[in-house]
Amino acid sequence: MIVQPKIRGFICTTAHPLGCAKNVQAQIDYVRSQKPIPGGPRKVLIVGASTGYGLSSRVVAAFGGSNAATIGVVFEREAEFKRTATAGWYNTVAFEQKAKDAGLYAKTVNGDAFASETKQKVRELIRQDWQGQVDLVIYSVAAPRRQHPQTGVVSKSVLKPIGASYTGKSIDLSTDKLETVTLPAASPDEINQTIAVMGGEDWQMWIDELEKNKMLAPGVSAVAYSYIGPQLTKAIYRSGTIGKAKNHLEKTAQDIDAQLKKLGGKALISVNRALITQSSSAIPFIPLYYIVLNKIMKEKNIDESCIQQMYRLFAGYLYGNQSSMDGNGFIRLDNLELREDVQRDVYAAWDKLQDSNLYSLTDLQAYHDDFLKLFGFGFPDINYDEDVDIDLKFPSA
Ligand code: NAD
Repeated sequence: MIVQPKIRGFICTTAHPLGCAKNVQAQIDYVRSQKPIPGGPRKVLIVGASTGYGLSSRVVAAFGGSNAATIGVVFEREAEFKRTATAGWYNTVAFEQKAKDAGLYAKTVNGDAFASETKQKVRELIRQDWQGQVDLVIYSVAAPRRQHPQTGVVSKSVLKPIGASYTGKSIDLSTDKLETVTLPAASPDEINQTIAVMGGEDWQMWIDELEKNKMLAPGVSAVAYSYIGPQLTKAIYRSGTIGKAKNHLEKTAQDIDAQLKKLGGKALISVNRALITQSSSAIPFIPLYYIVLNKIMKEKNIDESCIQQMYRLFAGYLYGNQSSMDGNGFIRLDNLELREDVQRDVYAAWDKLQDSNLYSLTDLQAYHDDFLKLFGFGFPDINYDEDVDIDLKFPSA
Protein backbone atom coordinates (compact mmCIF):
# COMPACT_ATOMS: atom_id res chain seq x y z
CA MET A 1 0.00 0.00 0.00
CA ILE A 2 1.14 3.58 -0.58
CA VAL A 3 1.30 5.30 2.80
CA GLN A 4 1.23 9.07 3.21
CA PRO A 5 0.88 11.12 6.40
CA LYS A 6 -2.64 12.03 7.52
CA ILE A 7 -2.54 14.59 10.30
CA ARG A 8 -5.58 15.12 12.51
CA GLY A 9 -5.01 17.72 15.21
CA PHE A 10 -1.96 16.70 17.21
CA ILE A 11 -1.79 13.15 15.91
CA CYS A 12 -0.85 11.51 12.63
CA THR A 13 -3.27 8.66 11.91
CA THR A 14 -0.95 6.78 9.56
CA ALA A 15 2.58 5.47 10.05
CA HIS A 16 5.24 4.30 7.62
CA PRO A 17 6.96 1.01 8.49
CA LEU A 18 10.21 1.84 6.70
CA GLY A 19 10.49 5.26 8.32
CA CYS A 20 9.77 3.83 11.77
CA ALA A 21 12.49 1.23 11.21
CA LYS A 22 14.85 4.07 10.29
CA ASN A 23 14.06 5.86 13.54
CA VAL A 24 14.88 2.76 15.52
CA GLN A 25 18.07 2.12 13.55
CA ALA A 26 19.19 5.73 14.10
CA GLN A 27 18.77 5.24 17.86
CA ILE A 28 20.74 2.00 17.77
CA ASP A 29 23.47 3.67 15.71
CA TYR A 30 23.69 6.51 18.22
CA VAL A 31 24.03 4.16 21.17
CA ARG A 32 26.62 2.05 19.37
CA SER A 33 28.65 5.17 18.59
CA GLN A 34 28.94 5.88 22.33
CA LYS A 35 31.17 4.21 24.91
CA PRO A 36 29.72 0.83 25.97
CA ILE A 37 28.14 1.08 29.40
CA PRO A 38 30.04 -1.14 31.82
CA GLY A 39 27.95 -3.25 34.20
CA GLY A 40 24.68 -2.47 32.43
CA PRO A 41 21.43 -4.35 32.96
CA ARG A 42 20.89 -7.98 31.93
CA LYS A 43 17.14 -8.54 32.04
CA VAL A 44 14.91 -5.53 31.60
CA LEU A 45 11.16 -5.02 31.67
CA ILE A 46 10.01 -1.80 30.01
CA VAL A 47 6.37 -0.85 30.48
CA GLY A 48 5.53 1.63 27.70
CA ALA A 49 8.29 0.49 25.36
CA SER A 50 7.12 1.44 21.87
CA THR A 51 7.73 5.18 21.50
CA GLY A 52 9.37 8.14 23.22
CA TYR A 53 11.40 7.63 26.36
CA GLY A 54 10.37 3.98 26.79
CA LEU A 55 11.56 2.92 23.33
CA SER A 56 14.85 4.75 23.84
CA SER A 57 15.29 3.06 27.22
CA ARG A 58 14.83 -0.30 25.53
CA VAL A 59 17.38 0.56 22.84
CA VAL A 60 19.99 1.61 25.41
CA ALA A 61 19.35 -1.49 27.52
CA ALA A 62 19.79 -3.81 24.55
CA PHE A 63 22.47 -2.05 22.52
CA GLY A 64 24.30 0.00 25.15
CA GLY A 65 26.93 -2.62 25.89
CA SER A 66 25.39 -5.18 28.22
CA ASN A 67 23.25 -6.87 25.52
CA ALA A 68 20.25 -6.93 27.84
CA ALA A 69 17.32 -9.21 27.17
CA THR A 70 14.18 -7.06 27.07
CA ILE A 71 10.48 -7.60 27.51
CA GLY A 72 8.43 -4.62 26.37
CA VAL A 73 4.83 -3.84 27.23
CA VAL A 74 3.12 -1.68 24.63
CA PHE A 75 -0.42 -0.67 23.75
CA GLU A 76 -0.45 -0.40 19.99
CA ARG A 77 -2.73 -1.17 17.05
CA GLU A 78 -1.72 -3.53 14.29
CA ALA A 79 -2.56 -2.95 10.62
CA GLU A 80 -6.05 -3.82 9.56
CA PHE A 81 -7.12 -3.98 5.91
CA LYS A 82 -6.19 -0.53 4.53
CA ARG A 83 -5.34 1.05 7.88
CA THR A 84 -1.69 1.15 8.83
CA ALA A 85 -0.50 0.00 12.24
CA THR A 86 0.55 2.68 14.72
CA ALA A 87 4.10 4.02 14.74
CA GLY A 88 4.70 2.26 18.06
CA TRP A 89 3.75 -1.05 16.45
CA TYR A 90 6.23 -0.59 13.60
CA ASN A 91 8.91 0.66 16.01
CA THR A 92 8.45 -2.52 18.00
CA VAL A 93 8.61 -4.75 14.92
CA ALA A 94 11.86 -3.01 13.93
CA PHE A 95 13.33 -3.15 17.42
CA GLU A 96 12.59 -6.86 17.82
CA GLN A 97 14.03 -7.61 14.38
CA LYS A 98 17.24 -5.68 15.03
CA ALA A 99 17.61 -7.29 18.45
CA LYS A 100 17.10 -10.72 16.90
CA ASP A 101 19.68 -9.95 14.19
CA ALA A 102 22.11 -9.04 16.96
CA GLY A 103 21.38 -12.29 18.80
CA LEU A 104 19.48 -10.57 21.64
CA TYR A 105 16.34 -11.73 23.40
CA ALA A 106 13.41 -9.34 22.79
CA LYS A 107 9.75 -10.11 23.27
CA THR A 108 6.79 -7.78 23.48
CA VAL A 109 3.37 -8.02 25.11
CA ASN A 110 0.85 -5.82 23.32
CA GLY A 111 -1.86 -5.05 25.83
CA ASP A 112 -3.18 -2.59 28.37
CA ALA A 113 -0.50 -2.21 31.06
CA PHE A 114 -3.22 -1.39 33.58
CA ALA A 115 -5.01 -4.72 33.08
CA SER A 116 -4.30 -7.77 35.24
CA GLU A 117 -4.19 -10.04 32.13
CA THR A 118 -1.26 -8.06 30.76
CA LYS A 119 0.66 -8.38 34.02
CA GLN A 120 -0.11 -12.09 34.01
CA LYS A 121 1.20 -12.50 30.43
CA VAL A 122 4.42 -10.75 31.37
CA ARG A 123 4.74 -12.90 34.47
CA GLU A 124 4.35 -16.05 32.39
CA LEU A 125 6.96 -14.86 29.92
CA ILE A 126 9.43 -14.07 32.67
CA ARG A 127 8.84 -17.41 34.35
CA GLN A 128 9.15 -19.35 31.11
CA ASP A 129 12.07 -17.51 29.51
CA TRP A 130 14.03 -15.85 32.29
CA GLN A 131 13.57 -18.14 35.25
CA GLY A 132 12.30 -15.23 37.27
CA GLN A 133 14.98 -12.57 37.36
CA VAL A 134 14.46 -8.95 36.29
CA ASP A 135 17.19 -6.51 37.26
CA LEU A 136 15.71 -3.32 35.81
CA VAL A 137 12.07 -2.25 35.55
CA ILE A 138 11.38 0.92 33.56
CA TYR A 139 7.94 2.48 33.80
CA SER A 140 7.29 4.87 30.89
CA VAL A 141 3.56 4.83 30.31
CA ALA A 142 1.77 7.97 29.10
CA ALA A 143 -1.91 7.17 28.74
CA PRO A 144 -5.17 9.08 28.37
CA ARG A 145 -7.31 6.61 30.35
CA ARG A 146 -7.13 3.73 32.77
CA GLN A 147 -9.59 1.11 33.83
CA HIS A 148 -8.89 0.09 37.38
CA PRO A 149 -8.19 -3.65 37.43
CA GLN A 150 -10.07 -4.26 40.68
CA THR A 151 -12.97 -1.80 40.65
CA GLY A 152 -13.48 -1.57 36.88
CA VAL A 153 -13.81 2.21 37.24
CA VAL A 154 -12.55 4.09 34.19
CA SER A 155 -10.55 7.27 34.82
CA LYS A 156 -9.53 9.81 32.20
CA SER A 157 -6.59 12.13 32.53
CA VAL A 158 -7.12 15.80 31.75
CA LEU A 159 -4.56 18.55 31.31
CA LYS A 160 -5.99 21.48 33.21
CA PRO A 161 -4.88 24.09 35.74
CA ILE A 162 -5.99 23.83 39.35
CA GLY A 163 -7.72 26.53 41.39
CA ALA A 164 -8.33 29.03 38.61
CA SER A 165 -8.62 29.03 34.85
CA TYR A 166 -5.46 29.77 32.90
CA THR A 167 -5.10 31.93 29.82
CA GLY A 168 -1.90 31.90 27.85
CA LYS A 169 -0.13 32.06 24.52
CA SER A 170 -0.23 28.90 22.46
CA ILE A 171 0.24 27.83 18.86
CA ASP A 172 -2.23 26.32 16.43
CA LEU A 173 0.02 23.87 14.65
CA SER A 174 -2.41 23.36 11.79
CA THR A 175 -2.07 27.02 10.75
CA ASP A 176 1.21 27.98 12.48
CA LYS A 177 -0.50 30.97 14.04
CA LEU A 178 -0.36 32.13 17.62
CA GLU A 179 -3.55 31.98 19.62
CA THR A 180 -4.68 32.79 23.12
CA VAL A 181 -6.12 29.78 24.86
CA THR A 182 -8.06 29.61 28.10
CA LEU A 183 -8.35 26.38 30.01
CA PRO A 184 -10.90 26.13 32.82
CA ALA A 185 -9.82 24.96 36.26
CA ALA A 186 -10.08 21.24 36.89
CA SER A 187 -12.76 19.88 39.20
CA PRO A 188 -11.66 17.77 42.19
CA ASP A 189 -12.95 14.69 40.35
CA GLU A 190 -10.83 15.51 37.27
CA ILE A 191 -7.76 15.90 39.50
CA ASN A 192 -8.39 12.50 41.08
CA GLN A 193 -8.97 10.84 37.73
CA THR A 194 -5.71 12.23 36.34
CA ILE A 195 -3.86 10.92 39.40
CA ALA A 196 -5.50 7.52 38.87
CA VAL A 197 -4.19 7.39 35.29
CA MET A 198 -0.78 9.07 35.46
CA GLY A 199 0.11 8.68 39.15
CA GLY A 200 2.05 5.81 40.64
CA GLU A 201 -0.64 3.24 41.50
CA ASP A 202 -0.08 1.08 38.43
CA TRP A 203 3.73 1.25 38.77
CA GLN A 204 3.29 0.02 42.34
CA MET A 205 1.03 -2.79 41.10
CA TRP A 206 3.69 -3.93 38.61
CA ILE A 207 6.34 -4.01 41.33
CA ASP A 208 4.04 -5.83 43.76
CA GLU A 209 3.20 -8.40 41.11
CA LEU A 210 6.86 -9.04 40.32
CA GLU A 211 7.89 -9.11 43.97
CA LYS A 212 5.07 -11.46 44.97
CA ASN A 213 6.21 -13.87 42.28
CA LYS A 214 9.87 -13.57 43.27
CA MET A 215 10.77 -12.15 39.90
CA LEU A 216 12.96 -9.30 41.08
CA ALA A 217 16.69 -9.93 41.12
CA PRO A 218 18.82 -8.83 44.07
CA GLY A 219 19.87 -5.23 43.55
CA VAL A 220 16.96 -4.55 41.16
CA SER A 221 16.32 -0.95 40.03
CA ALA A 222 12.88 0.47 39.26
CA VAL A 223 12.77 3.74 37.34
CA ALA A 224 9.89 6.01 36.34
CA TYR A 225 9.98 9.26 34.39
CA SER A 226 8.76 12.63 35.56
CA TYR A 227 8.77 16.21 34.37
CA ILE A 228 9.01 19.49 36.26
CA GLY A 229 9.51 22.27 33.72
CA PRO A 230 9.95 26.02 34.11
CA GLN A 231 7.79 28.77 35.59
CA LEU A 232 6.39 29.43 32.11
CA THR A 233 4.48 26.14 31.98
CA LYS A 234 3.90 25.79 35.72
CA ALA A 235 0.17 26.66 35.80
CA ILE A 236 -0.66 24.06 33.21
CA TYR A 237 1.95 21.41 33.97
CA ARG A 238 3.51 21.18 37.40
CA SER A 239 0.77 23.02 39.32
CA GLY A 240 -1.93 21.47 37.16
CA THR A 241 -3.65 18.10 37.11
CA ILE A 242 -0.67 16.32 35.53
CA GLY A 243 1.63 17.80 38.18
CA LYS A 244 -0.55 16.29 40.91
CA ALA A 245 -0.24 12.92 39.16
CA LYS A 246 3.55 13.33 38.99
CA ASN A 247 3.60 14.19 42.73
CA HIS A 248 1.85 10.88 43.30
CA LEU A 249 4.30 9.03 41.05
CA GLU A 250 7.22 10.59 42.92
CA LYS A 251 5.73 9.66 46.30
CA THR A 252 5.24 6.12 44.99
CA ALA A 253 8.96 6.02 44.18
CA GLN A 254 9.68 6.47 47.91
CA ASP A 255 7.34 3.59 48.77
CA ILE A 256 8.83 1.31 46.13
CA ASP A 257 12.34 2.31 47.19
CA ALA A 258 11.60 1.19 50.76
CA GLN A 259 10.10 -2.05 49.41
CA LEU A 260 13.08 -2.83 47.18
CA LYS A 261 15.63 -2.11 49.91
CA LYS A 262 14.94 -5.63 51.20
CA LEU A 263 16.41 -6.91 47.94
CA GLY A 264 19.27 -4.46 48.00
CA GLY A 265 17.45 -2.61 45.23
CA LYS A 266 16.17 0.93 44.70
CA ALA A 267 13.49 3.01 43.00
CA LEU A 268 14.39 6.15 41.13
CA ILE A 269 12.67 9.07 39.47
CA SER A 270 14.38 10.50 36.44
CA VAL A 271 13.20 13.99 35.58
CA ASN A 272 13.65 14.19 31.82
CA ARG A 273 13.72 17.19 29.52
CA ALA A 274 10.71 18.35 27.50
CA LEU A 275 10.66 16.63 24.14
CA ILE A 276 8.05 16.22 21.48
CA THR A 277 6.60 12.75 21.66
CA GLN A 278 3.13 11.53 20.77
CA SER A 279 1.95 12.30 24.31
CA SER A 280 3.63 15.62 24.97
CA SER A 281 2.43 17.15 21.70
CA ALA A 282 -1.09 16.79 23.09
CA ILE A 283 -0.40 18.93 26.18
CA PRO A 284 -1.79 22.45 25.73
CA PHE A 285 0.86 25.23 25.60
CA ILE A 286 3.77 22.77 25.71
CA PRO A 287 4.51 22.69 21.93
CA LEU A 288 4.97 26.49 21.83
CA TYR A 289 7.29 26.41 24.83
CA TYR A 290 9.13 23.48 23.29
CA ILE A 291 9.81 25.17 19.94
CA VAL A 292 11.17 28.27 21.66
CA LEU A 293 13.25 26.15 24.04
CA ASN A 294 14.62 23.90 21.33
CA LYS A 295 15.79 26.78 19.16
CA ILE A 296 17.75 28.14 22.12
CA MET A 297 19.15 24.77 23.17
CA LYS A 298 20.27 24.12 19.59
CA GLU A 299 21.98 27.52 19.41
CA LYS A 300 23.84 26.68 22.61
CA ASN A 301 24.60 23.20 21.28
CA ILE A 302 22.98 21.49 24.24
CA ASP A 303 19.80 20.02 22.73
CA GLU A 304 19.29 16.32 23.34
CA SER A 305 16.89 13.78 21.83
CA CYS A 306 15.14 10.92 23.66
CA ILE A 307 17.97 8.51 22.92
CA GLN A 308 20.64 10.97 24.06
CA GLN A 309 18.77 11.53 27.32
CA MET A 310 18.35 7.82 27.92
CA TYR A 311 21.99 7.05 27.14
CA ARG A 312 22.94 9.75 29.65
CA LEU A 313 20.59 8.18 32.21
CA PHE A 314 22.07 4.70 31.86
CA ALA A 315 25.72 5.63 31.35
CA GLY A 316 25.79 8.45 33.87
CA TYR A 317 23.38 7.50 36.63
CA LEU A 318 21.94 3.97 36.55
CA TYR A 319 25.24 2.25 35.73
CA GLY A 320 27.73 5.11 35.98
CA ASN A 321 29.36 7.06 38.73
CA GLN A 322 27.16 10.16 38.58
CA SER A 323 25.43 10.08 41.90
CA SER A 324 24.37 13.71 42.20
CA MET A 325 20.65 13.78 42.82
CA ASP A 326 18.63 16.87 43.62
CA GLY A 327 17.27 17.62 47.10
CA ASN A 328 14.33 15.29 46.45
CA GLY A 329 16.58 12.43 45.39
CA PHE A 330 15.64 12.77 41.69
CA ILE A 331 17.96 12.31 38.74
CA ARG A 332 17.83 15.59 36.81
CA LEU A 333 18.26 15.03 33.09
CA ASP A 334 16.42 18.34 32.65
CA ASN A 335 19.43 20.25 34.01
CA LEU A 336 20.26 21.76 30.61
CA GLU A 337 16.66 22.74 29.87
CA LEU A 338 16.39 24.55 33.19
CA ARG A 339 19.79 26.22 33.06
CA GLU A 340 19.44 29.86 34.00
CA ASP A 341 20.76 31.27 30.72
CA VAL A 342 18.49 28.96 28.71
CA GLN A 343 15.36 29.96 30.59
CA ARG A 344 16.34 33.65 30.48
CA ASP A 345 16.59 33.43 26.69
CA VAL A 346 13.31 31.50 26.48
CA TYR A 347 11.54 34.28 28.39
CA ALA A 348 13.09 36.98 26.23
CA ALA A 349 11.98 35.24 23.02
CA TRP A 350 8.55 34.40 24.47
CA ASP A 351 7.73 38.07 25.06
CA LYS A 352 8.59 38.97 21.47
CA LEU A 353 6.63 36.16 19.77
CA GLN A 354 4.36 37.21 16.93
CA ASP A 355 3.01 35.38 13.89
CA SER A 356 5.55 37.20 11.73
CA ASN A 357 8.61 36.05 13.69
CA LEU A 358 7.54 32.51 14.64
CA TYR A 359 9.89 30.89 12.16
CA SER A 360 12.87 32.98 13.20
CA LEU A 361 12.41 32.92 16.98
CA THR A 362 11.41 29.27 17.27
CA ASP A 363 12.31 25.85 15.96
CA LEU A 364 8.91 25.57 14.23
CA GLN A 365 10.06 24.10 10.92
CA ALA A 366 12.18 21.46 12.64
CA TYR A 367 9.22 20.68 14.92
CA HIS A 368 7.02 19.89 11.92
CA ASP A 369 9.77 17.73 10.40
CA ASP A 370 10.47 15.91 13.67
CA PHE A 371 6.77 15.36 14.34
CA LEU A 372 6.35 13.65 10.95
CA LYS A 373 9.45 11.57 11.64
CA LEU A 374 7.79 10.20 14.80
CA PHE A 375 5.44 8.45 12.38
CA GLY A 376 8.12 7.47 9.89
CA PHE A 377 7.61 10.28 7.35
CA GLY A 378 9.93 12.88 5.86
CA PHE A 379 13.03 10.76 5.28
CA PRO A 380 14.59 11.90 1.98
CA ASP A 381 15.78 8.40 1.05
CA ILE A 382 12.37 6.74 1.40
CA ASN A 383 10.12 6.83 -1.66
CA TYR A 384 6.70 7.52 -0.18
CA ASP A 385 5.00 6.94 -3.55
CA GLU A 386 6.11 3.34 -3.53
CA ASP A 387 4.06 0.41 -2.25
CA VAL A 388 5.06 -0.86 1.16
CA ASP A 389 3.89 -3.89 3.14
CA ILE A 390 1.92 -2.51 6.08
CA ASP A 391 0.92 -5.83 7.64
CA LEU A 392 4.00 -6.57 9.74
CA LYS A 393 4.00 -8.86 12.78
CA PHE A 394 6.28 -8.82 15.81
CA PRO A 395 9.15 -11.21 14.99
CA SER A 396 8.72 -12.82 18.45
CA ALA A 397 5.01 -13.53 17.89
P1 NAD B 1 5.02 8.38 24.47
O1 NAD B 1 3.61 8.72 24.08
O2 NAD B 1 6.07 8.50 23.42
O3 NAD B 1 5.08 6.88 25.02
C1 NAD B 1 4.08 6.33 25.81
C2 NAD B 1 4.21 4.83 25.87
O4 NAD B 1 3.16 4.34 26.72
C3 NAD B 1 4.04 4.09 24.53
O5 NAD B 1 4.96 3.03 24.46
C4 NAD B 1 2.62 3.52 24.59
O6 NAD B 1 2.43 2.31 23.86
C5 NAD B 1 2.53 3.23 26.09
N1 NAD B 1 1.17 3.15 26.58
C6 NAD B 1 0.19 4.10 26.56
N2 NAD B 1 -0.92 3.60 27.15
C7 NAD B 1 -0.62 2.34 27.53
C8 NAD B 1 -1.36 1.31 28.18
N3 NAD B 1 -2.61 1.49 28.57
N4 NAD B 1 -0.74 0.13 28.37
C9 NAD B 1 0.55 -0.10 27.96
N5 NAD B 1 1.29 0.85 27.39
C10 NAD B 1 0.69 2.04 27.18
O7 NAD B 1 5.33 9.26 25.75
P2 NAD B 1 6.64 9.84 26.43
O8 NAD B 1 6.65 11.31 26.21
O9 NAD B 1 7.85 9.04 26.06
O10 NAD B 1 6.29 9.62 27.97
C11 NAD B 1 6.78 8.54 28.75
C12 NAD B 1 6.98 9.02 30.17
O11 NAD B 1 7.98 10.04 30.19
C13 NAD B 1 5.71 9.63 30.80
O12 NAD B 1 5.66 9.30 32.15
C14 NAD B 1 5.97 11.13 30.66
O13 NAD B 1 5.27 11.91 31.59
C15 NAD B 1 7.47 11.17 30.89
N6 NAD B 1 8.15 12.39 30.42
C16 NAD B 1 7.94 12.86 29.17
C17 NAD B 1 8.55 14.05 28.78
C18 NAD B 1 8.33 14.65 27.40
O14 NAD B 1 8.54 15.84 27.23
N7 NAD B 1 7.96 13.85 26.41
C19 NAD B 1 9.42 14.71 29.66
C20 NAD B 1 9.65 14.18 30.92
C21 NAD B 1 8.99 13.00 31.30
